[in-house]
Amino acid sequence: MTKTLVLNASYEPLGVVSTRRAILLVLAGKASTLAASGAQYHSRSAVLDAPSVVLLNRYVRVPQRRIPLTRKSALERYGHVCAYCGRYGDTLDHVVPRARGGTHCWENVVIACFKCNNTKSDSLLSELGWKLPFELKEPHLNMASLISLRWDDPTWDEFTTPWRKHDLQLAG
Ligand SMILES: [Zn+2]
Repeated sequence: MTKTLVLNASYEPLGVVSTRRAILLVLAGKASTLAASGAQYHSRSAVLDAPSVVLLNRYVRVPQRRIPLTRKSALERYGHVCAYCGRYGDTLDHVVPRARGGTHCWENVVIACFKCNNTKSDSLLSELGWKLPFELKEPHLNMASLISLRWDDPTWDEFTTPWRKHDLQLAG
């Protein structure tokens, strides 16, 4: 069973459905194919290119969802990138260390590599002269949808990367 990424009419990622369901949306005129998986779908009367990404033809209002902060959700949000050096990282790091009164919330958590996490230890960024390349805040709605995705299709990157960047508002 393959999966298809569904984008709202605004191009915001909404979620993932089975490719079969996505084909039904396209056939019903509710969605358009933006990218094809390369596979083909055979119905009784036609052969269709199976979509890997579809765009809803009408905007759907989605209630704001809060994303619980876990190591997994933080890794998916920050994409295994160390906030301090930009290299690969997979450690949850409290920007204001818990020993210094830092809380466990999105406004105080980043992903760090092992080396930066060790160097930083219980120091504050101001004590090290370190700066974060983005503002710390809760994930935006777009990111809430992205975090709930299973990231297993490289053809989705083109459609999801801009929202990840938008979410983090990377400096520069
Ligand atoms: Zn690092």
